[in-house]
Formats: sequence, structure tokens, C-alpha cells
Amino acid sequence: MAGRSDCIFCKIIAQEIPASIIYEDSHIIAFADINPVASEHLLIVPKEHIQSLADVSMDNCSLLGQIQVVAAQLAKETGVASSGFRLVCNCGINGGQTVDHLHYHLIGGRKLQWPPG
Ligand code: 5GP
Ligand code: ZN
Repeated sequence: MAGRSDCIFCKIIAQEIPASIIYEDSHIIAFADINPVASEHLLIVPKEHIQSLADVSMDNCSLLGQIQVVAAQLAKETGVASSGFRLVCNCGINGGQTVDHLHYHLIGGRKLQWPPG
């Protein structure tokens, strides 16, 4: 699967730059966030380059469902399922998205604030 040459997550998917990869299947990869905001902070990323959640269609239903199931599985494996965690997708400028390749943050290991800042 050819990634975008200007996309950092496509480069991680292509193993052109290193990441601490926790999970991988044919459609999804998960790796540790380089700048964790909690003791558990993974990024769950579709291998297909989709810019943001604003760009998905019904064709992506299966992929989006799989991401949630993988998130639940990784929450169990990293030990945060019972204490609780958050699955976050930042979208666009107001959403705080800084990498323009769809991704979900799996964050846990401490009590998180709500509402977000
Ligand atoms: P966003 O702000 O778009 O929701 O999240 C992007 C996330 O990607 C940030 O939490 C940031 O720390 C992480 N990130 C950015 N560049 C890299 C990288 O090269 N490697 C890894 N592992 N994470 C990255
Ligand atoms: Zn990409």
C-alpha cells in the first residue's frame, strides 16, 4: 500500500521511520505516541491514508468498527480496561488535529479531565 510521501504516519506504516509498534493487522496499526499524555497512550491508525474523520464514508464502516474493537482489545492488553480509558479522535483545526492521517488516541492510566480544554 503506497503511503503519502509527506505523511509521518504513512512513513511509520511503511516502516520508513521507527515507532514502538504494539499491534498490526492488514488494515490497522497501533504504536506508542511519541509524546505520551498519560502512562498509557497509543495511537490506533488505519493503514489507508484517510485525512481525518471528516473524510470517511459508509465504505469505511468496517474499518471504523475494527478500530474500536482493536481499541478495546489493546485496553485489555495494556491493563487499562478495568480502570477506564478514553478513545479520542481529534478532527481538524478546532479539534486539535496535528497529523493529517486519521488516528485514534487510546489514553489511560490516570483520571482524565472532562470537559477537554
Ligand atoms: P493529533 O494532535 O493529530 O490528534 O495527534 C497526533 C499525535 O501524534 C500526537 O499525540 C503526537 O505526539 C503524535 N506524533 C507525532 N509525530 C509522531 C511520530 O513521529 N511518532 C509517534 N509515535 N507519534 C507521533
Ligand atoms: Zn498518511
